[in-house]
Amino acid sequence: AHFGFAEAAPGEKQGLVDDVFHKVASRYDLMNDLMSGGLHRAWKSAMVTALGVPKGARGFRLLDVAGGTGDISFRALDRGGEGVKVVALDINGAMLDVGRARAAERKLGDRIEFVQGNAEDLPFPDRSFDAVTIAFGIRNVPRVDVALREMRRVLKIGGRALVLEFSKVDVPGFDKVYDAFSFNVIPRLGQMVAGDAESYRYLVESIRRFPDAAAFADMMREAGFEQVEATPMTGGIACLHSGFRI
Ligand code: SAM
Repeated sequence: AHFGFAEAAPGEKQGLVDDVFHKVASRYDLMNDLMSGGLHRAWKSAMVTALGVPKGARGFRLLDVAGGTGDISFRALDRGGEGVKVVALDINGAMLDVGRARAAERKLGDRIEFVQGNAEDLPFPDRSFDAVTIAFGIRNVPRVDVALREMRRVLKIGGRALVLEFSKVDVPGFDKVYDAFSFNVIPRLGQMVAGDAESYRYLVESIRRFPDAAAFADMMREAGFEQVEATPMTGGIACLHSGFRI
C-alpha cells in the first residue's frame, strides 16, 4: 500500500508524524534495537564522541533537537563533566514524557531540561548553545531547510551542529538485502512489537525519500554552515553530518 506522507503539504505532514510518534513512544527504544540490530547505539555514541563534550567543569550547553526520549542527552551527560547542560527539545509530549521519566530515574536534576517545541521555530535566543544535535529527527521535519537555519541561529559562533540520519546504502549487493529488510521485515516487526505496521511503513518510506549524503551536505551549506563534512557509517545505512557556525 502506498503511504502518502512524503507528498503531504508541510502543515499536514507534521500532524501525521506526530501521530506516528505518539503511537510508538513507549516501544520506541526496543524497536530501534530490533530494527538496527543495536547499531543505533554505536551511531549515537559516535555522534556524541564527535561532539567532544568537555570533561571538566567548563560550561557547555548542548541542544538536542527531536530528542524527547533523552537518548543523545544522556550520552552527552555521561561523557561530559559537571559543566555540561543539555536541553532536549521535541514536538511530541509522549516522547518527552519518556525522557522526563528516564531523567528522573537517573537523578540528573537541573543538568537536563525538556522543552516542547518545533525544530522549525526553536524557542531560544540567537547564539545560545555550544553545540546542536539532531539524531534521526531531521527526516521527520516538514521543512528541513528551515530547521537547519534555526539550528545555526541558536549556535554560538564557532559552535558545531551534528546531524545523524539514515542515508543511502552504497555497497553493491548489500543494498538489495537492505531493501528487502526495510520493506518486509521492518513493518512486520512494527506489527509484532508495537502492534502497528503502518507507522513503520512510514519510517521506511521517509528513509527512502531522504536526500543522499552529498545532497544533504549541500543543504547544510545552503543553511549557512561551514566546514561541512559527511561521515557514512555501516555502509551508508546512516550518515553523520557536521557543520560549524563561523
Ligand atoms: N533523537 C531520538 C533518537 O535518536 O532516538 C528520537 C528520534 S525519533 C525517530 C524522531 C523524533 O522527532 C520524534 O521524537 C518526534 O516527535 C520528533 N519530531 C518530529 N517532528 C519534529 C519537529 N518539527 N520538531 C521537533 N521534533 C520533531
